[in-house]
Amino acid sequence: PYVIAEPCVDVMDKACIEECPVDCIYEGSRMLYIHPDECVDCGACEPVCPVEAIFFEDDLPEDWNGYVASNVDFFADL
Ligand code: SF4
Repeated sequence: PYVIAEPCVDVMDKACIEECPVDCIYEGSRMLYIHPDECVDCGACEPVCPVEAIFFEDDLPEDWNGYVASNVDFFADL
């Protein structure tokens, strides 16, 4: 799936939510999260993010690898 990383923190522009065809982007307290099982890998969200916070998980910069788990954990806690 696609993953939202650090640049989203305290920004939460939400342009991605408008683009996602399956409504799998959810709002947390400080950032948005992509539901890893609901994401259909369409890539529509990535280019509309004004802070370039969205990556296909394999393309995530190494420093932000922890966000793969953060996106999973967010839904485990719901
Ligand atoms: Fe939604 Fe597509 Fe982005 Fe996945 S890649 S979060 S399905 S817009």
